[in-house]
Amino acid sequence: MKLMITNTLERKKVPFEPIDPSRVRMYVCGPTVYDYAHVGNARPAVVFDVVARLLRRLYGDAQVTHVANITDIDDKINARARESGRSIGEITDETAAAYRADMDAIGVNKPNEEPRATHHIDQMIAMAERLIELGHAYAADGHVLFNVPSMPDYGELSRRDRDEMVAGARVEVAPYKRDPADFVIWKPSDAETPGWESPWGRGRPGWHIECSAMAEAYLGEVFDIHGGGLDLIFPHHENEIAQSRCAHGTERMANYWMHNGFVTVEGEKMSKSLGNFYTVHDLLEEWPGEVIRFLLLSAHYRAPLDFSQAGLRESKAQLDRLYEALDLTRDVPTVSEKSSLPNLEDAMVSVDTPSSDYIAEALCDDLNTPLAISRLHYLVSRLNTAQAEDKPRIKASLLQGAELLGLLRSTPDQWFRGETEGISPIEIERLLGDRAKAREAKNFAEADRIRDVLKNEGIEIKDSPEGPTWKRA
Ligand SMILES: [Zn+2]
Repeated sequence: MKLMITNTLERKKVPFEPIDPSRVRMYVCGPTVYDYAHVGNARPAVVFDVVARLLRRLYGDAQVTHVANITDIDDKINARARESGRSIGEITDETAAAYRADMDAIGVNKPNEEPRATHHIDQMIAMAERLIELGHAYAADGHVLFNVPSMPDYGELSRRDRDEMVAGARVEVAPYKRDPADFVIWKPSDAETPGWESPWGRGRPGWHIECSAMAEAYLGEVFDIHGGGLDLIFPHHENEIAQSRCAHGTERMANYWMHNGFVTVEGEKMSKSLGNFYTVHDLLEEWPGEVIRFLLLSAHYRAPLDFSQAGLRESKAQLDRLYEALDLTRDVPTVSEKSSLPNLEDAMVSVDTPSSDYIAEALCDDLNTPLAISRLHYLVSRLNTAQAEDKPRIKASLLQGAELLGLLRSTPDQWFRGETEGISPIEIERLLGDRAKAREAKNFAEADRIRDVLKNEGIEIKDSPEGPTWKRA
């Protein structure tokens, strides 16, 4: 089984050859944390989560390092801080925590590292200094700029010509620039704007240098896969490549560049003014996280994806069918633990039953998630009709395959009965909020009443200095 991926650098599907199979390294551009994640942010998180799961299956869990950064210094964050009168630290801590909770809910495993830009300012300054020393950057007027003409093959990823690049980057024409295409590595901060001391005065990093510095810090000068959305190819990824390659004197920053397609909502570009702006946080009030994930994986990652209510309903129906098969085979032993069945792989090859690699094989073809999903359905129809003695094997294939996609994470009981019977986590949180307010107002009768309501729902509350926690009794 050979992993093939479409490498944006080469514009074609090529075999994946890691630099070191015992240390497979992937960097994915993460969110800028100033607001709830929307479905456009969720798509790369889910897509590259599946890439990481597949790499772990192929090379071993401990052999794979998945890094996804958190951009916690940015002019949008600064603007949000000014509007709300809060510090950027408060806003980014709160938003990063909400992002992690949303990603947990849609089954995105925590990457090995989630570095935050503000924790790596020293590395960014060091890289800027190195670029200046090597003649690829210059300081001017409190800024540090990358000098694009200093890199003869600038533009290899996006393959744009120079005029297109200048127009496409919407780069500011500024008197301190030597060339109109030059881009910012470091910029000055006024007294109201967050900033750090640097050789060029108090300032803050540009966006592109964040990823170049953090990728080097965790993955080294050249690594295997760099991922992100299609919209990042230019200028963000082009500029990451320019900085990293010129600073390190390397031919490549990453050997494989993978880009996921755009997300539209109800057939249109998502925008707050059109009223079709879907955040994961809001969607989770109505839909299980797995439904959102399923929809995000239903199109090939490079194709555009339309995120719609109809798509959510269809995803729910398809998941219902998969869970129904698990419900009907609840007495069939689960043989998902490989150690319990050492001959499982051999046994699978010998019968007319797809092996546990059936789903992995689909994903190895440039992460063909629609094919993988159709194979889950095929396994379900096999499971429904197979002889009793074949069922454990098919069920194992189904569960192992679903795990690669991050699906079927619940039990059939939780799926069909957990959410309709009993009180939802959101309702529990709301009641806990009401109870805290009642206690603050010293209305202990009301606080006790809410506690009893929850108790009747089978919810146990435990108070601690960090606030109350709850569990189902
Ligand atoms: Zn990036």
